[in-house]
Amino acid sequence: MKLAGHPFQVNKEGHLVIGGLDTVGLAKKYGTPLYVYDVSIIRENCRAFVNTFKELGVSAQVAYASKAFSSIAILQVMKQEGLSIDVVSEGELYTALKADFPTEKIHLHGNNKSIDELTLAIENNIGCIVIDNFYEIELLNRLLDEHDKNMNVLLRVTPGIQSKTHQYIMTGNEDSKFGFNLANGQAEKAFTQLDNHDRIHFKGLHCHIGSQIFETDSFTKAAEILFDELAKWHSVYNYTPEVLNFGGGFGIRYTKEDSPLPLAQYVDELVLTVKKHISHLQFPMPEIWIEPGRSIVGNAGITLYTIGSTKEIPGVRNYIAVDGGMTDNLRPALYQAKYEGVIANRADQPNTTEVSVAGKCCESGDMLIWDLPLPEVNNGDILAVFSTGAYGYSMANNYNRFSKAAVVFVENGQDKLIIKRETYDDIIRNDLSYE
Ligand SMILES: *Cc1c(COP(=O)(O)O)cnc(C)c1O
Repeated sequence: MKLAGHPFQVNKEGHLVIGGLDTVGLAKKYGTPLYVYDVSIIRENCRAFVNTFKELGVSAQVAYASKAFSSIAILQVMKQEGLSIDVVSEGELYTALKADFPTEKIHLHGNNKSIDELTLAIENNIGCIVIDNFYEIELLNRLLDEHDKNMNVLLRVTPGIQSKTHQYIMTGNEDSKFGFNLANGQAEKAFTQLDNHDRIHFKGLHCHIGSQIFETDSFTKAAEILFDELAKWHSVYNYTPEVLNFGGGFGIRYTKEDSPLPLAQYVDELVLTVKKHISHLQFPMPEIWIEPGRSIVGNAGITLYTIGSTKEIPGVRNYIAVDGGMTDNLRPALYQAKYEGVIANRADQPNTTEVSVAGKCCESGDMLIWDLPLPEVNNGDILAVFSTGAYGYSMANNYNRFSKAAVVFVENGQDKLIIKRETYDDIIRNDLSYE
């Protein structure tokens, strides 16, 4: 039986099934809390992007934004699928290098890249650095001289639009810590500076307009603003871009309130828009790069918890508490993110009650889901929370000295541990004595 709203099944015993495996069995085998990914869904998402570009005959790079979930295993899957990746820190870059990710397909982001980060990127000849600010232009140029190396760069610009779930709003005066402002001429100034550096190969523009975007208008609008600027640069400097990078932010379904578009549709519309503008301006077709994070791993992942205590406040609310919380999923506490879940060991039963799911951290704000419809709940039941594949493990933390949960990949009925559960020795590993 298929489960409504999520890409998973329910078996004859009424247990939730992911990638052909019984989640109750996985919880027993690996313990809880446990992150489980169906790798076939990850591959499908990658292919939706990559194949659409191919079908349209457009040169493209689909760069997985690895901040959504970075580990050796996921980067190996991205490598298998032929994706590029984005990294935003030395730690993410280090992970990519350890995963033997092809360095020419690694792009480095960040609004305050350190000397160490830039040096590691330069030494390993990564594919591209996305320049964010004037300080970085000077710093990068100095480091390239010191290492006697060249580097491809994109310039990150802020088109001055913000996507707001279903509509974009123009903000005349863009207020963001990221990138160069187009409206006030800073982007153009950065462009002319980059053009003066021999070791820097300026490939084009980058923008990332937000996250959880459910329509294509915001991207179309961003493209329009980029091309307005490029038309100017063409007439003044005779410049045409080799690459245009439109970032990520393609929305996914967390709850029934979310209605995402098919991933291919974002690509279709982007390509259509770019083609329209270049034919108007008589530019050669640039490569199109995108940077999906959430839309590649988000829906492929679930988190399994064991339900422990319950608390009834008559006339107010019923709480159930799970063996994880804001330590394995920070998003509800950080930005009131909403999730859905089911009792994994009775996923076939109708909902008869409503409970609020609490984590076990010493914070009143440690609530995973408010007012979740469920069947009657018993302690020892397994709660499965959906769409936790992005920004779940990657934002996990050790608050209250909880150990980080394990991560399991499942595919074609096989399960494989890809990140071990932290031990308490891991947690005190860096503690030093003071006696
Ligand atoms: C976060 C981020 C992404 C990925 O965003 P998603 O919403 O996960 O797709 C891509 N590019 C940049 C520059 C980002 O900061």
